Amino acid sequence: TMAHSKALLVLENFIAGKFVPCSSYIDSYNPSTGEVYCRVPDSGKEEVEAAVKAAKAAFPIWSSKSPLERSQVLNKLADLIEHDLEAFAQAESKDQGKTITFARTVDIPRAVYNFRFFASSILHHMTECTQMATVGCVHYTSRTPVGVAGLISPWNLPLYLLTWKIAPAIACGNTVVAKPSEMTSVTAWMMCKLLEKAGLPHGVVNVVFGMGAKAGEALVCHPTVPLISFTGSTLTAQRITEKSAPHCKRLSLELGGKNPAIVFDDADLSQCIPTTLRSSFANQGEICLCTSRIFVQRGIYSEFLKKFVAEAKKWKVGNPLDPTVDVGALISKEHLEKVRSYVKKAQAEGAHVLCGEGVDSLALPLGNQRGYFMLPTVIAEVKDDSCCMQEEIFGPVTCVVAFDTEEEVIERANNVKYGLAATVWSSNVGRVHRVAQKLQAGLVWTNCWLIRDLNLPFGGMKASGIGREGGKDSYEFFTEVKTVTIKH
Ligand code: ADP
Repeated sequence: TMAHSKALLVLENFIAGKFVPCSSYIDSYNPSTGEVYCRVPDSGKEEVEAAVKAAKAAFPIWSSKSPLERSQVLNKLADLIEHDLEAFAQAESKDQGKTITFARTVDIPRAVYNFRFFASSILHHMTECTQMATVGCVHYTSRTPVGVAGLISPWNLPLYLLTWKIAPAIACGNTVVAKPSEMTSVTAWMMCKLLEKAGLPHGVVNVVFGMGAKAGEALVCHPTVPLISFTGSTLTAQRITEKSAPHCKRLSLELGGKNPAIVFDDADLSQCIPTTLRSSFANQGEICLCTSRIFVQRGIYSEFLKKFVAEAKKWKVGNPLDPTVDVGALISKEHLEKVRSYVKKAQAEGAHVLCGEGVDSLALPLGNQRGYFMLPTVIAEVKDDSCCMQEEIFGPVTCVVAFDTEEEVIERANNVKYGLAATVWSSNVGRVHRVAQKLQAGLVWTNCWLIRDLNLPFGGMKASGIGREGGKDSYEFFTEVKTVTIKH
């Protein structure tokens, strides 16, 4: 609307070490007020071309540095972000709608840790060597950076997921063109201001802001970008796969989930309930690893449901900048409407909405009444083939259903197109291992959630993705391997 006379924050692309304005801009909203507060470059082919050119020019210098030299730059960058942690957290909360508490304790610390982790990890990789004494040969492998990496990231964990790609890409000696989500571009822009001070040569990291279909697609289609790392929706991944096929690009795709939690009757509910509330509603349910189908064994079903709903009702929804708030705003008006529509569909199918949307009333502070808020919502009596049990909702909505046997629950848990994460709750060690082996998921957490060792693979099966990222996996993805044979 025309009513916004307040000075808007205007972002610029970061190309070859310089901030450059763009000829057109996109409005960016503050999800907790519904106001436009920022303008994001609406980049296209031309801007992507300039960024790829800069990245290509920087490649010879950056790729010839030793791992130790690159490691020092990453560590310096980590220190600089950490020094400004509060400013980054405030910006992430305002731009994304997430609570300041989540941004302070999860998003920004993890962005810092991403750089520290890969700064260390890059120093410890070994290549292989084998001998064939009978034919007088030794074989060894060498690994080299691939070139200009195209990195496309989503809006739910903006700086966290962007740095999860930038850190390994540049640690391995690649140069980068990154395209953050058009809805959450501010913290990426803030990070660009620190790159020179960290000692990063110009052109190693370039950031173009803009829409997926325009800026993102220009990057995917660029012939000099041999590799794309993407986190986002399955639908967009299909489009990226098609567009990159003529170039035979290397792809890493981290996509959606429809993650089950399986609660056996011997589970420790004092641990399971608070953790499953977090796994369902943390970051407004806008994490690909969030639980959205809770299977509870019949004997404890009523007890679980009663306690779970009582606790869900205690989650405070409101101004994300208020440190006592547990649930912030959803990313956009359209997304809020989409999430709400799932609750309506469930009701129309005869499911019971036990708390939240359409059941309880939501009182918002004066300044937030036009924000995109929603109460944590628990749905029961929902059928396995209902869209609420099949499709990724990506909001604070979770379904609770009963099961009888281990065999049955494994089959039902696997009965979706996705395969990202699962949690299993039981005090029977044998059962925990048995079930973990049979679940179709790239990550299985038992008696916990979201605890990660970045050395180990992250990624999904089925429609949840292709490829894995993590210490060794990221190293392999962001480098090209060669086998050399020497006869003596
Ligand atoms: P969501 O549906 O959750 O918004 P998307 O997959 O649309 O997730 O978005 C994830 C990232 O992919 C964003 O940075 C977005 O701009 C980008 N994107 C969307 N469409 C395309 C496309 N056709 N090509 C390349 N990137 C895209």
